[in-house]
Amino acid sequence: MNFVAQAVAGLMDLMFPEICAGCNCLLTGSRHMLCVRCLNELPRTGFEHQVNNPVEKIFWGRVSTVAAMSLLYFTKGSMLQNVMHALKYKGRAEVGTSFGRMMGEAISTSNRFQSITCIAPVPMHWKKKRKRGYNQAELLCDGMSEILKVPVAADLLVKTGTTDTQTFKTRTQRWENMRSRFTANTPHATKQHVLLVDDVVTTGATLESCAAALLKENGIQVSIATLAFTLK
Ligand SMILES: [Zn+2]
Repeated sequence: MNFVAQAVAGLMDLMFPEICAGCNCLLTGSRHMLCVRCLNELPRTGFEHQVNNPVEKIFWGRVSTVAAMSLLYFTKGSMLQNVMHALKYKGRAEVGTSFGRMMGEAISTSNRFQSITCIAPVPMHWKKKRKRGYNQAELLCDGMSEILKVPVAADLLVKTGTTDTQTFKTRTQRWENMRSRFTANTPHATKQHVLLVDDVVTTGATLESCAAALLKENGIQVSIATLAFTLK
């Protein structure tokens, strides 16, 4: 960086100081997104190395996956909840790509995700995306793609279902409605191993319907990665 660029960067820091997305403290020096303390406190799962881990068990008997992982444990009231709130509602898009890189690094150390050919986000309704300005799952994919050197297939899945209320439907109707909410847009995607990405997994219903849509196509295998896993 030359002198002018350094001066401008210094001035920007003064005018718009960056704050930690976990604890709101002021970030100093070269720190971005999280302070050192919050970074060290992130509750890593280690699921990327674990066969039959709790994320994989969610999908047993529902959809067939090659491998599945979540990077972090999510609990209510935790620092991670603040970070994810900042990502979803405070426009902190950089949180998504940074976490995506972290996910990519974790996955790259595991031999269970080696054959992935593309990374696909769980799609968001266009109205919601327009309001928020981004799909946080897509930001995670961008960060992962940088590390894993695998392309993002942002339009592989399309959200087709209507947003009609589920209140008056029976359990089976609700399930059918959910199953048909996504379609795979895969004209050239045969023989792909798709890494399906979302910010958090709880019941797995959305990821299940996305995976089911992909698995309808010939020659497609699916793995799953989420930033957070909710402890029930
Ligand atoms: Zn912090």
